[in-house]
Amino acid sequence: MSAALAPAPDDELVFLPLGGSNEIGMNFNLYGYGPAHDRKWIVVDLGVTFGDQTTPGVELILPDPTFIEEHARDIIGIVLTHAHEDHIGAVAWLWPRLKAPLYATPFTAFLLREKLREKGLQDEARITEIPLSGNFRLGPFDLNLITLTHSIPEPNGVAIRTPLGTILHTGDWKIDPDPLTGAATDEAAIRALGDEGILAMVCDSTNVFVDGEAGSEADVRDTLGALIGTLKGKVAAACFASNVARMDTIIRAAEANGRRVCLVGRSMIRMSQAARSVGLLEGLAPFLTDAEARGFPGDKILYLCTGSQGEPRAALARMADGTHPHVKLGKGDSCVFSSRIIPGNEIPIRNLQNKLADLGVRLYTERDHPGIHVSGHPCRDELKRMYQWARPKIAVPTHGERRHLLEHAALALDLQVSQAIAPRNGDMVRLAPGAASIIDEVPAGRLYVDAGVVTPENGDALRERRHASVNGMLTVTLVLDGENRLAAGPEVRALGLPGDDDYTLGEAMDDLADEAKDAFHRLSADDRDDDALVEGALSRSVKKGAFRIWKRRPVVETTVMRVR
Ligand SMILES: [Zn+2]
Ligand SMILES: [Zn+2]
Repeated sequence: MSAALAPAPDDELVFLPLGGSNEIGMNFNLYGYGPAHDRKWIVVDLGVTFGDQTTPGVELILPDPTFIEEHARDIIGIVLTHAHEDHIGAVAWLWPRLKAPLYATPFTAFLLREKLREKGLQDEARITEIPLSGNFRLGPFDLNLITLTHSIPEPNGVAIRTPLGTILHTGDWKIDPDPLTGAATDEAAIRALGDEGILAMVCDSTNVFVDGEAGSEADVRDTLGALIGTLKGKVAAACFASNVARMDTIIRAAEANGRRVCLVGRSMIRMSQAARSVGLLEGLAPFLTDAEARGFPGDKILYLCTGSQGEPRAALARMADGTHPHVKLGKGDSCVFSSRIIPGNEIPIRNLQNKLADLGVRLYTERDHPGIHVSGHPCRDELKRMYQWARPKIAVPTHGERRHLLEHAALALDLQVSQAIAPRNGDMVRLAPGAASIIDEVPAGRLYVDAGVVTPENGDALRERRHASVNGMLTVTLVLDGENRLAAGPEVRALGLPGDDDYTLGEAMDDLADEAKDAFHRLSADDRDDDALVEGALSRSVKKGAFRIWKRRPVVETTVMRVR
């Protein structure tokens, strides 16, 4: 804890979210210090979000770093609060554009290193490991990690001291007096920081609409232990692989009931290795391999598996489909979902559960068996306690959709915080000097990882794919000879368009081909020399015809081939 220097007259302290404000996911927070023309920046978290039905085929969504990339020289460091994908998932993708040193605690660093290795960046991108509760200095920022509780090992809040005041960036947190894995939320450190004076608290809003408290992991252990004790046959239990405390809970609940544990799913195995690298998951019987587990009686085994969100290639989906090479579930077996439904995953989860039910598997979910899962984010009572400990002058809600941020801002004002400000991605908030206000709006958007390629949000590939997925596609092919006469075609083919007995698809193709031929004949001799003009004219005529037939606007792709 080093004393902050005095501020220079033009110095400003700003907060700039480029992701994670007005959405849950893709956290990308920047803090800037200095005069407006010469700010130094630190980044706190650089995460991803996932695509949905509106982004078919998109694997990942990244925050667009264009604004800060232009100031990449002035980024002193990238601090990662914890290892969830929405906080570290974009590092390996965007680091080459930012090239700043990385700071993380050991568990986060372990997983980050793997991601960097996959992209061949392990030598270039340097990670400095900071111990829990560690202190380090980055230019005008003096940082102190504060141990919190969440749903992954080593969640950290960051106290950021600057000459213009101190920020408490909470990251993701909850208050659990008995988290089973890792230390409890460091109330004393937060209270001490509050006594010293906190200018602004940038805080998790995920559960602001939920009354009471998130609940303790210790209670989950009791509830799950009792539940598993009543089950016969094989038990499959699904949870997030990164929730090591929950893995530990489920494993101990299984052992208490005389069951050995088999991990199923790559990320479950990888996460158990990361956990062991920092001394977690100790004192347990060795895990069985899938092949060993097959030799065990059903009621002596628990499969701990990935796929609680209905992910199609995960272990649980393959068990439900009957395609898992080693694990078969059937009548009399049970499946425990020790997880919540992430908004957007309702349909795949329902499909998964229907398939399991069809196999005769009994299902246990949070909805019908409360207490087999608790959230990792603070509910209203926990938020209230945090505000009582920290007593910030300014509340800056983050990690929420618009409605969460506004509700959180209102709650903070009710709790006597003198100012609350709920920025959108790209809003530059001046925290000091003077009252907090939005002083600038910078470009903020998203990038899509599409078939492994980083593409702009409004790129052609996804737009065309989305358009074709609703409207279908037509291809037109024609062959011209050396005199620009039709040697063959035009031939029209359809993809994803219907026909019926009254008007078959073949008839529709013939009619469209006739219209394309007429369009070709209407072209002048000169125009027929130009492939682009020929393609344009034929595409337009086929589009018109398609609209007449289907009242749709399919993607039309015309190809001119020439033979001499
Ligand atoms: Zn998290
Ligand atoms: Zn998060």
